[in-house]
Amino acid sequence: MYYTMLDYYLNLFDNGKRAFAFQAETPEAYAAWKSALRARLAEITGLNRCIPCEPVHELVKTEQAEGFTAEYHTLQTEPGVVMPFYLMRPEANGVQPAGGKRPVLIVPHGHGGGKRQILGYQGRFIREALEDGFIVACPDERGSGDRREFPEQGDEPQQVRGNSHRELMQLGLNFGRTVIGGAVWDLMRLSDWLLALPEASGFLACAGMSGGGQQTLWFAALDDRVNAAITSGYFYGVRDSLIELPQNCACNFVPHFFETADMGELGALIAPRPFFVESGANDPLSGKRRVANVTEQLDVTRAAYRLFGAEDRVVHSVHDGGHEWRGDGMRAFLRRAMAD
Ligand SMILES: [Zn+2]
Repeated sequence: MYYTMLDYYLNLFDNGKRAFAFQAETPEAYAAWKSALRARLAEITGLNRCIPCEPVHELVKTEQAEGFTAEYHTLQTEPGVVMPFYLMRPEANGVQPAGGKRPVLIVPHGHGGGKRQILGYQGRFIREALEDGFIVACPDERGSGDRREFPEQGDEPQQVRGNSHRELMQLGLNFGRTVIGGAVWDLMRLSDWLLALPEASGFLACAGMSGGGQQTLWFAALDDRVNAAITSGYFYGVRDSLIELPQNCACNFVPHFFETADMGELGALIAPRPFFVESGANDPLSGKRRVANVTEQLDVTRAAYRLFGAEDRVVHSVHDGGHEWRGDGMRAFLRRAMAD
C-alpha cells in the first residue's frame, strides 16, 4: 500500500483557477491581459531578475558539424554567463539565395544533447532554411551541450545527451530563478545580437522540438520580436502532461504556473503572429488523451487570434508518430509568414 500525493495535486489544479485564464473579448482587453500576464510570467520565471551586462562576443572558430559549416560564437548574456552558439550562413553552406538582407532563424535544442545534435535531427529543416536565405543560429541552453555542469561533462554518449537542468533548477529556485526564465533571457540577448547584424532583415523566426519547442513557446510568448514561432512536441495542457507526468525534466516546472495560466494562454500571447504547432498522434508526452490535450489548448489560443481576424495564422500539423520532429509544412509556413 502506498499513500501518494498525485491526486492531491490534481485536486488542487481542478479546484483552483488560473489567475490569467484567457477571457478577453476585444483587442483592448487582450492588450491589457497580455501585458499583465507577461509581467507575472517574468516574475515567476525569474526572467525579470536576470542581470543585464555588456554583450561581450567572440567568434571562436569555424568547424564542420553534422554536414554544416558552422561558426562557433560565444556571447555573454549575464555577468559571467557565456552562451556558445553555432551560426550558419547560406553562402558558407553552398547556397546563394536571392536578395540582400537575411531573415534570421533561431533553432533551440531539446533534451537530446546540445547545438550539435540538433544539426542532425533537424538537419533537413535547417538546410531548407539556409536555401530560403535564413541565417540560422543554434545556441546551447544553460546546462546543456558546452554549458553542462561538472557531473554531466564528458564525451560518453549518455553524458553528451545529458544535461544539468535539475541542478540548475535546484540552485535557481533559491534565488527566484528558473531554467526556462534563464533560457528565454539568453534567447532575447541572442536576438539582440542577431538583429543588429548589418545583413539582418529584421524578420526573426524561432523553431524547436521538445525542450526546444518549450523554449520557442516561452520566448515567443514573452518577446514580440519573434515574427513566427514553431513548436513541435511541446504544446499541451499541463494537467495531463506535467501534473500527471511529474517525472518530466525539472525545467518544465515554474513556481505558481499552474495557478497562473496553461499552455493555451502562452499560445494566446503570441497572437496575431504566425504560430505552428506540430504534434505526434502517439506522443506520450501529450498525456493519456494524446492530441485531445493539444487541441483543447489550441482552442484557447485560437480565441485570441480570432480577435485579430487571424485564426488562419495558427497551424496545427498532426503526424502519425510519437515524440518526434517531422517538419512537414514548416518550410511553406515560414515562407508565408515572411510574405505576410
Ligand atoms: Zn530540462
